[in-house]
Amino acid sequence: MEEDKEEVKSFKDLGVCDQLIEACDNLGWKHPSKIQAEAIPHALEGKDLIGLAQTGSGKTGAFALPILQALLETPQAFFACVLSPTRELAIQIAEQFEALGSGIGVKCAVLVGGVDNVQQSIALGKRPHIVVATPGRLLDHLSNTKGFSLRTIKFLVLDEADRLLNEDFEKAIDELLSVIPRERNTYLYSATMTKKVRKLQRACLRNPVKIEAASKYSTVDSLKQQYLFVPAKHKNCYLVYILSEKSGSTSMVFTRTCDSTGLLAQMLRNLGLRAIPISGHMTQAKRLGALNKFKAGECNILVCTDVASRGLDIPSVDMVINYDIPSNSKDYIHRVGRTARAGRSGVAISIVSQYELEWYIQIEKLIGKKLPMFPAQEEEVLMLLERVTEAKRIADMTALGFFVRLGISLKFAVENLSIY
Ligand code: AMP
Repeated sequence: MEEDKEEVKSFKDLGVCDQLIEACDNLGWKHPSKIQAEAIPHALEGKDLIGLAQTGSGKTGAFALPILQALLETPQAFFACVLSPTRELAIQIAEQFEALGSGIGVKCAVLVGGVDNVQQSIALGKRPHIVVATPGRLLDHLSNTKGFSLRTIKFLVLDEADRLLNEDFEKAIDELLSVIPRERNTYLYSATMTKKVRKLQRACLRNPVKIEAASKYSTVDSLKQQYLFVPAKHKNCYLVYILSEKSGSTSMVFTRTCDSTGLLAQMLRNLGLRAIPISGHMTQAKRLGALNKFKAGECNILVCTDVASRGLDIPSVDMVINYDIPSNSKDYIHRVGRTARAGRSGVAISIVSQYELEWYIQIEKLIGKKLPMFPAQEEEVLMLLERVTEAKRIADMTALGFFVRLGISLKFAVENLSIY
């Protein structure tokens, strides 16, 4: 992009200290991303910040670097608290803090639901510098873990604030704000600016500097977006067609419900594709296990719900497929933000059925673009029909057998399966 060529700043130009520049270098971060270039100088001046930035823009670094630099100047336990809407994002934020702070001995604790409380209390007992948490579990520790408080924190970060508020963490956040010192710096990052985010901004930031890494709701230029209009009954066939056309790619396939992630992944596996599901219905250990298999390349197709569309740091997704079109168009932006990250190129393909046209039109309105059609050869697609139908039938039967083994009545199982 022209504007990027105009002035390529270095981390040094932004005021980042040598130790942290070295850490960036070790991570392969040669130049600051746009949001980092805009946020870091203000943050180093001690300003509160509100950042509108998409996942993949480097926003974690934009808040982690100034916090670590301040920590280096005045080392102290319980220095910063980062709130995240999901467990996975919290873990990834902590990983970035640890990676950037490895040379300076930074200690982090991650407080998230779905994992053992005791381990987390032990981590808190080690007096970490940075606490990364989901709101509910943080409140839980504040009331139940002896000796733990946020009275000394100097930085509060609200990451993916729009999502934090969507998930109905509003009450928990109000409670947290009442126990955190007012004398602090606050960074609020959000992909979209909603009414609730604006309200939160007024309630907890002081004269914030507003920075924006991308124009409102836009998707990055290196992302190639396409759609396919197909009859609902042939969706599976089109999905398999696209996946085989792009068989070398790493893909995320988005569905609407947790249950359909499992069934769809099973169907794809029956066809010999290396698919794995991840959804909010799985235990934390299973979710992380699935994610690791995907990251390690053991599986190259991750079938997921929107829970997985936020914040997951998966560096090399080549393609996002919207198997179900999201009814909330902002979810589209978050989903496709999984590809074309950090300057790489990527493809996003939406498989639109006759029932989803309205939602798709809303998406085109939001991104302000008419998208081109994915070129599919209908005869070739329909040649897959028999195999795909059989793979789907076996997946359904496998799931049915699972329900029955669980002792759930056949009637219940059939009723539940009928939704697929
Ligand atoms: P984030 O938007 O914070 O989730 O970051 C997305 C990805 O970009 C992560 O894998 C980061 O490690 C990477 N990243 C962040 N900042 C930079 C940078 N300045 N140069 C290259 N990669 C970066």
